[in-house]
Amino acid sequence: MSGYDTLFFQGDDDSQMISIAGDEGRVILTRDTQIMRRRVVTGGKIKAILIRSDDSERQMLQVIDALHLSPFFNPFTICLECNQPLTERSKPQVEGRVPTYVFQTRDQYMECPHCHRLYWRGTHWQAMIERLNKFSRHSRERL
Ligand SMILES: [Zn+2]
Repeated sequence: MSGYDTLFFQGDDDSQMISIAGDEGRVILTRDTQIMRRRVVTGGKIKAILIRSDDSERQMLQVIDALHLSPFFNPFTICLECNQPLTERSKPQVEGRVPTYVFQTRDQYMECPHCHRLYWRGTHWQAMIERLNKFSRHSRERL
């Protein structure tokens, strides 16, 4: 939501995940204490954060604090499903691909070039803005 390049690792081979993190300069977010004990992590070659809470909101706040992230870094510019930068689409380009009510009331659309999911500023978008505002208030309180 904030626009940070994020990869969800779905394999079960930790070495592969660590290798990707190293190659792509990624920070590992994990609940696995074994990964935190790896030499590449303890030696500081790869940065990893052990996520403490079970609650997704608390997890997000921990990551924001640890990496000094800005919730409004570059909001809604990356596909929530596949982490690809979104492309702007004109109204004629989305006709017939979004609900009629949406088409009649919205002028701006974004599309993921990979999964072709369409995004627009609807009620779900509003709810996400509120979440980002909440995270933003939290980060300011911590300064
Ligand atoms: Zn996508």
